[in-house]
Amino acid sequence: MLATLRQIVQRVNAAANLHEALEIIVHRVKAGMNTDVCSVYVRDPAAPQYVLMATDGLNPSSVGKIRMGAGEGIVGLTATRQEPINLANAAEHPSYRYFPETGEQQFSGFLAVPLVHFRQSMGVLVVQQKSQRVFGDDEVAFLVTIGAQLAATLSYAALGSAVPPHEPGPSGPIGLIQGLPGAPGVTIGSIVLPSPLADLDAVANRVPDDAAQEEANFRRAVRETQQELRASADRMEGRLSDETRAIFDVYVLILGQEDLVEGVIARIRGGNWAPGALRDTIAEHAKVFEQTEDAYLRARAEDIRAIGRRILLRLLFDVTSVKQYPSDTVLLGDEVSLARVADVPPGQLKGIVCLRGSVVSHTAVFARGLGIPAVMGLGPRNVGALDGHPIIVDGYRGRVFIDPLPAAVQEYRRFVQHEGQLSAKLAGLRDLDATTTDHVRVGLGLNVGLLTDIDVAANLGVDEVGLYRSEFPFMTRETFPMEQEQYETYRKVLKAFAPKPVTMRTLDTGGDKPLPYFPTAEENPFLGWRGIRLTLDRPDIFLPQLRAMLRANVGLNNLRIMFPMIGQVDELKAAREAVDRARRELGEEGCECPAPLIGAMLEVPSALLSIRALSRYADFFSIGTNDLTQYLLAVDRNNPNVAHLYNQLDPAVIRALYLVIRDARRCGKPVSVCGEMAADPGSAILLLGMGLGTFSMSTSAVLRIKWVIRSFSGQRAKQVLHRAMRMECADSVRNMLDDELDGAGLGELVLA
Ligand code: PEP
Ligand code: MG
Repeated sequence: MLATLRQIVQRVNAAANLHEALEIIVHRVKAGMNTDVCSVYVRDPAAPQYVLMATDGLNPSSVGKIRMGAGEGIVGLTATRQEPINLANAAEHPSYRYFPETGEQQFSGFLAVPLVHFRQSMGVLVVQQKSQRVFGDDEVAFLVTIGAQLAATLSYAALGSAVPPHEPGPSGPIGLIQGLPGAPGVTIGSIVLPSPLADLDAVANRVPDDAAQEEANFRRAVRETQQELRASADRMEGRLSDETRAIFDVYVLILGQEDLVEGVIARIRGGNWAPGALRDTIAEHAKVFEQTEDAYLRARAEDIRAIGRRILLRLLFDVTSVKQYPSDTVLLGDEVSLARVADVPPGQLKGIVCLRGSVVSHTAVFARGLGIPAVMGLGPRNVGALDGHPIIVDGYRGRVFIDPLPAAVQEYRRFVQHEGQLSAKLAGLRDLDATTTDHVRVGLGLNVGLLTDIDVAANLGVDEVGLYRSEFPFMTRETFPMEQEQYETYRKVLKAFAPKPVTMRTLDTGGDKPLPYFPTAEENPFLGWRGIRLTLDRPDIFLPQLRAMLRANVGLNNLRIMFPMIGQVDELKAAREAVDRARRELGEEGCECPAPLIGAMLEVPSALLSIRALSRYADFFSIGTNDLTQYLLAVDRNNPNVAHLYNQLDPAVIRALYLVIRDARRCGKPVSVCGEMAADPGSAILLLGMGLGTFSMSTSAVLRIKWVIRSFSGQRAKQVLHRAMRMECADSVRNMLDDELDGAGLGELVLA
């Protein structure tokens, strides 16, 4: 049974579309269980009803026609109860519904199991037999196991493939997929799959008909790939830093290696076609790098394979001309690399969607820097057939709609229009203070990380940079940036905002933000070698960064330094000492640097309970609600399986924030919030009620939050806060906050 099970699951996973997957299920299960019928009913969320989508044993013409509502018939009952129903004679059951067109009057024994995914019934799997007997325990166990395995696959296929059923199907296009917000905004565009099918491992050997021709094809492919890379680098000029663009030069360099080209040619002459020769040569070169001790060199193996895929693409497909991108391109891929982003001519890239990743992934970071909506973490699914399909990207809610219904397109068009109108209206707030109706002045700060952010941010009328994520320039590079290079970057940032203060956070990698050239494989990375823990252990990384920041501050004096992931007082003390040491050493070298203010991020629960002690060593605090929420609720902020449990409005989070802001104020320390919560209009009311001094957020949220602050009194915000703290769940808090915004005339923000 286990072997049959495995085979079925494998075959279904390899299916090209939903229809094919269902056909495989019914034929294989019927044969495997030796029954007379196997059928699959799939939920049509629009109805909602369960629709017969495939059968082996019932009348095939009834497929797509038999529909049952929840609780209707034994199928509907199984879906509602979410447990198996096993009957010797189905016709005797009070819920039995007879459909003459199926020809099922001849069957008695009936076993139905629900296909449940994330508490939702996605469908029902049924086997039937002529004889009157209940199915045995092992048979039930088998079908339940298949059901459990297939529910997720079915849900992905049903939602993700957007391949409509074989007929203009009963369920129509279902294309809503919930992922994770990556970058805010909404777009309606056309899907472009960045690298179609260039899988080196899937290439088979083949004897070429004409080796000389094969050799010529290969040389042409190399030339074209080099040209393509150079053109990409040119297109990104001005959009990315020089260091990032250097990736393309590395690729061109790899391509120029004679031994790589000659290795392929030798293999072609040895009797293999170009793709096979390329596969082996690339594998050989990548292996050399993989076997080195050096982490940086090991990471080069991936570059070699990336180059290999690009050449393969040109060999296998007729990619003689530059790929034509539609004016409303939405890149969709497992991961969308920077190189793929660079391929799209400026102005034509309207959205990015990744099956993997999260809001802090590389790609999401770039998308925010470029001001393009992005949705991440859709989960594994077959997207190979979606090139050119229409798509809606909702970067606010982390959703996409593939092949959206006209009603959804209309709805989102209205939304985009509304966004435009709202932005135009809010532009009038640019030069006004963030002051409550009872005249309390609140600080507004920006979260930045890329050089591209700075141009937009510099004239937004904010008070400070509340968070400069210094790891971003580290993440867009191929090696650790040297002190001088860091100095140049930090200097640009400090200069752009001077005399306004800039809070630079020291390197916060590890966890879900690994550096490609510094892999740290850990069982539980979020509880591992992250942020300050890593930098304190690596003075060779930490000190150059501190020195670069301190030097960049000379003559400007607007730098503040902040440490991420502080959990213990000792960490803060040690980090502070490192700053002193860097200053001392620079002084000894003749570079006198002013002493910056030093702050600690509050994002580890133990820090929240140590405010008094931390206050002795910190000049200010900033609360990282993104991490704090995940650690307080014990919910991984990037895991789609528990995404519904990650909620910054959980009353426990609100109470914790209230206490920590109160404690920090009692200790006389300024406190800000630089997590996403500060950018959420409803949450802003709560933070205002807590007496928060500074709200720091990405550029797109600034004017919205200013509008909220200018629309409420501190007194009103306090009342709302105390109501929220008495509530039992995040949903109630959210509803209450939406009502508050609406009542204050800010309903448009609820929509966004
Ligand atoms: C946070 O955790 O809230 C935060 C601002 O830092 P990051 O999102 O970069 O971890
Ligand atoms: Mg954090």
